[in-house]
Amino acid sequence: MATSSHGFAGPADLHLHSNHSDGTESPAEVVAQAHAHGVRTLALTDHDRSTGWGEAGDAAVALGMTFIPGMELSAKHEWRSVHVLGYLFDPQDEALRAETDRIRGDRIGRAERIVRNIGRDYDLHWDDVVAQTTLDATVGRPHIADALVARGIVRDRTEAFEGILHPREGYYEPHYAPDPITAVRLITEAGGVAIIAHPVTAGRDRMMPVPFIERLIDAGLGGFEIEHRENTESGKRMLREIAAKHDLIVTGSSDYHGTGKPNRPGENTTAEEMVARLLAHGTGTAPRVP
Ligand code: AMP
Ligand code: FE
Ligand code: FE
Ligand code: ZN
Repeated sequence: MATSSHGFAGPADLHLHSNHSDGTESPAEVVAQAHAHGVRTLALTDHDRSTGWGEAGDAAVALGMTFIPGMELSAKHEWRSVHVLGYLFDPQDEALRAETDRIRGDRIGRAERIVRNIGRDYDLHWDDVVAQTTLDATVGRPHIADALVARGIVRDRTEAFEGILHPREGYYEPHYAPDPITAVRLITEAGGVAIIAHPVTAGRDRMMPVPFIERLIDAGLGGFEIEHRENTESGKRMLREIAAKHDLIVTGSSDYHGTGKPNRPGENTTAEEMVARLLAHGTGTAPRVP
């Protein structure tokens, strides 16, 4: 693939997870999978941490790919979980580091509480979850799902999320997360670009109200992840209008989690012009180019 006039190479997938959070593969394996699927520009966006950047960046450059450092920051609006993708921020930024440390720390106790709840009805213990977690990974329900699979209680992550891990089943516990305005500000003030991940997934009341989205834009929001398999068609149309009105960045990505989800690298991609805008606005850290 030829290098574009912007200095990066084509098909761009800007949302992939490794085993530094809830993906099933190492950062280098994620990069190799993305390359095998035709992706030539990628961002690693593990939940609440940036420890995979070095390995992923090295692997990407070795394969002639462009690497964009990223993260998916957990946030919460009222009861809704909101994921804010941050790109090209300074990983040493004190305020952002303190917040991600706090989120990851609270996620551990929360996962233990969920496991304790499940343990009342099923043969599941905290050790089972630890066994599914790579050293120091951001712990989430996917690791509990893997432990349920290992115990033979469910077949796969999907079955776990549709059953035992679904809040309606009564085992769920929330974890600490900042409100989305704080999340956008933290990323932006660290020199990064903030993009709301999968903003319009199906389900009643899952979308943030438009006036609140406009407050996020005022707080420095860079754009929306529009092409994502979980966004609804009507939601995408609405977001495209808001993005056009405010001249925001729109992205498309896979949200690859290795074998943890059916999503394949490159199943959605981001337009070259939008990658160029991301690179122009993100000043906290440099992309890695071959
Ligand atoms: P948590 O942040 O611990 O509540 O877990 C949410 C994470 O679980 C998300 O980041 C998704 O990657 C993952 N997830 C959500 N639904 C599913 C599903 N049906 N199958 C596999 N993973 C899922
Ligand atoms: Fe995830
Ligand atoms: Fe997400
Ligand atoms: Zn994700």
